Amino acid sequence: MAYRLTELAESLPSTVPFVGPEAQERLAGRVFKARLGANENVFGASPKALAALAEADHWAYADPESHDLRAALARHLGVGAENIVVGEGIDGLLGYLVRLIIGPGDAVVTSDGAYPTFNYHVAGYGGVLHKVPFAQDREDLPGLCEKAREVGAKLVYLANPDNPMGTWWRGEEIVEALSRLPDTCLLVLDEAYIECAPDAARAVIDIEDPRVIRMRTFSKAYGLAGARVGYGIGPAGLIEAFDKVRNHFGLGRGAQAAALAALEDQAHLDHVLAQIRRARAEIGEIAGANGLRALASATNFVAVDCGRDGAFATAVMKGLIERGIFVRMPGPAPQNRCIRISCGRDADLDLLRVVLPEVLADVKFS
Ligand SMILES: *Cc1c(COP(=O)(O)O)cnc(C)c1O
Repeated sequence: MAYRLTELAESLPSTVPFVGPEAQERLAGRVFKARLGANENVFGASPKALAALAEADHWAYADPESHDLRAALARHLGVGAENIVVGEGIDGLLGYLVRLIIGPGDAVVTSDGAYPTFNYHVAGYGGVLHKVPFAQDREDLPGLCEKAREVGAKLVYLANPDNPMGTWWRGEEIVEALSRLPDTCLLVLDEAYIECAPDAARAVIDIEDPRVIRMRTFSKAYGLAGARVGYGIGPAGLIEAFDKVRNHFGLGRGAQAAALAALEDQAHLDHVLAQIRRARAEIGEIAGANGLRALASATNFVAVDCGRDGAFATAVMKGLIERGIFVRMPGPAPQNRCIRISCGRDADLDLLRVVLPEVLADVKFS
């Protein structure tokens, strides 16, 4: 063999953990009629953002400092531009963060069944993951702190609200939990869905608090998942460290311009949030009409409890997929009694209303 992977790369699994709906479509030889599996915002981005994307000078490299976008985010959040790093979605930023903090053998804590991309990066830099089960369908915040102390974790991950259950903790509970973390542990607070959540979910934390970095994104409520723009918010020293490892030209001009225009169109965001609330209620109603129970959601998706075990929920998910509705589900038990349905437009949910009873009838008789 002429090339030699590092020992670490050699040790990593070669299976790709991220199989998108496109791969499923290619395999099935047809496209999904409703795309409700990836928590994308099917209501779409601000028309101003789409115009900015179209009008950007794509022949030119973008500003590697994302100056205008960071300045606008700083104004929006009431922090300094030095407290914000912009990157290729939260996914990209999580990779940089883990690269900055975690080396081979370092301990990291997350919830079993929480966001897999974080775990992927931890494995990629040789970190050792310790997983804490969900408790009552929420990430177990006290349990995560306790585990972090027990294993001497350098990083602990919490999504608030979380994916895949859509549940959440109050901001003050997160602040209180910080005092129970070891001094040497950094909390990665993933707020991908914070725009969809009640105000009480927002933690009030001093921006220079060295114990926390927050991650947010334009992929969900702002409807720009395809443009890949996320941002980290945290103490200036930690934010500056990202310059050592980040891909400085990773964000295109179109992505930066679209995110800036989306941020400035808060009226569109409010409009989308109202559609999300309506769709959440409708998914709950469809679930109820079929004898299933929707969990209360603070996100743009709803976990629907199918009332039985993981095998049953898997059959329901597969039935929906076979009938053209892309959905996903949680991995570990007992959360795997649920399927996860992203908020959809009227046409998407009308289809769900027709198809779900057919699927349940099939599954119950097989
Ligand atoms: C969707 C999601 C992300 C992805 O964010 P990108 O900015 O698109 O990379 C991150 N965290 C959680 C919990 C998510 O559900």
